[in-house]
Amino acid sequence: SEALERHEFGAEVGRLLDLVVHALYSEREIFLRELVANAADAVDRRRFEALTNPALGLPAEARLRILPDKAARTLTIADAGIGMSKTELGQHLGTIARSGTLAFARSLAEAPATDKPSLIGQFGVGFYSAFMVADRVEVTSRRAGTEEAWTWASEGRGDYTLAPAARAEAGTDIVLHMKADAEEFLEPFRLQSIIRKWADHITIPIVVVRDGKEEPANEGTALWRKPKSEVTEEQYADFYRHVAHAFDTPWATLHWRAEGTLDYAALLFIPGMKPFQPVEGERESRVRLHVRRMFITEEAGLLPPWLRFVAGVVDTEDLPLNVSREMLQATPVLARIRKAVTNRVLSELKSRAREAEDYAKVWENFGPVLKEGVWEDAEHRQEVAALLRFRSSAVEGWTSLVDYLARMKEGQQAIYVLVGDDAAALARSPQLEGFRARGVEVLLLSDGIDAFWPERLASFEGRPIRSITQGTVDLSKVAGGEPAGEATDVALLLPLLKDALKEDVSEVRATDRLVDSAAVLAAPEHGPDLQMQRLLRRAGR
Ligand code: ADP
Ligand code: MG
Repeated sequence: SEALERHEFGAEVGRLLDLVVHALYSEREIFLRELVANAADAVDRRRFEALTNPALGLPAEARLRILPDKAARTLTIADAGIGMSKTELGQHLGTIARSGTLAFARSLAEAPATDKPSLIGQFGVGFYSAFMVADRVEVTSRRAGTEEAWTWASEGRGDYTLAPAARAEAGTDIVLHMKADAEEFLEPFRLQSIIRKWADHITIPIVVVRDGKEEPANEGTALWRKPKSEVTEEQYADFYRHVAHAFDTPWATLHWRAEGTLDYAALLFIPGMKPFQPVEGERESRVRLHVRRMFITEEAGLLPPWLRFVAGVVDTEDLPLNVSREMLQATPVLARIRKAVTNRVLSELKSRAREAEDYAKVWENFGPVLKEGVWEDAEHRQEVAALLRFRSSAVEGWTSLVDYLARMKEGQQAIYVLVGDDAAALARSPQLEGFRARGVEVLLLSDGIDAFWPERLASFEGRPIRSITQGTVDLSKVAGGEPAGEATDVALLLPLLKDALKEDVSEVRATDRLVDSAAVLAAPEHGPDLQMQRLLRRAGR
């Protein structure tokens, strides 16, 4: 028609289309997530603008309709959102406002296959994903508060057209003319399952039209947004199984809402069981970040690695929907949320740790992970140390550093630990003899990470932590301490031993740490203790 205007795409768009269409072929279903996200966004924006301009008010039934038509081979996504004017259609769908193709292309090339789909949303290039499944896209839109409608159309090559159109109400219809190999996306069942997977938590109703009937596609219950009193244990547990891919019941459910300087809702779970297949080498927290209910990413690092066993959702109002990867790393909002969420989980652990039997369950599942916090998190080191539990030479079951301090002998200077591979073997070690004889307790550490953190922690509540296989151990000041052996005989023996062993040891010393055994190996005062030396040898050093 006469009114048809033809426009070239902005230079970046052409390259971007190529990237999106070809790099993500196996992940094509995410086009629906992106279009649904845009539609939900548009509805939110209309709702927001209506706050100051009631004339823009949303119709009561502002549902999002997904309409497959097999005969015409089209898929239509229709919303009653804010809509776009002619200028906005050209601006928003004809150029790239945000991040540029270069950064996107680089990330796309570097990301592992499973991460590629999330890049589209993060870089704010979601609309163009429509061309993965469609060889022609028509967008008919009417801006809320205006009378005219326009149709934007493109085949995803060099240009797009704009033409006047008609639309009874404000909002947008996106009509996808599906490629021959994308007909699966015209199956209502397939559409339903994609929405359940990607957009279940969008709160406006989404319907898929089948045989003229509208069938609800999303549950629309953002459980974390509900007041606690309206959520049952069973609903929590179901949701936990969904987000954690678990089968058990959570050990802890933390559900809270922050308002004020930070605005977010969080629903977190500490699992009741260890996951069956912990991902080897995977250390990042997978807590999901949502922005206004919309799923954004599992890779926002919302908790530190040493709390990576915690599963769940944090949903904030304080970030834009298409927050980019760079922004996720840089924004102070997220840093503040991280801090608040970490402290909340810590305080839950702290309060539950008072019930020894209850706490032992989480300790036995995730203790070694928590210990990483002492190793790497200077800010929380002392707090996490208080949460650790140990086997001990003096008591049955689990004990803590706080309990150890309470049992220390008069005159005892340090917290003594013995590190090895096997807890049962440690309990029988000759290294313990002198300590047992004097009633000095030794903590027995047998997790892999135990070779590392005690040195970092260095002390707890002012008491140094000492490995008993390291250097000299002076137990002479401990109350009730007995003198070691016959001093003169030992003094005669030492030079002889030193001479005989000079190839193998750097020193031979008398010690008061033995009672029944004649000799024991010790590590030098400074440098790695015996367990660390074993590990270093194993690592080929
Ligand atoms: P992003 O959503 O990150 O902005 P997209 O490529 O998904 O990037 O969309 C580009 C822009 O097009 C959006 O910011 C929005 O302004 C506009 N837009 C897309 N879909 C719709 C819609 N259904 N209703 C209104 N505006 C839309
Ligand atoms: Mg988008």
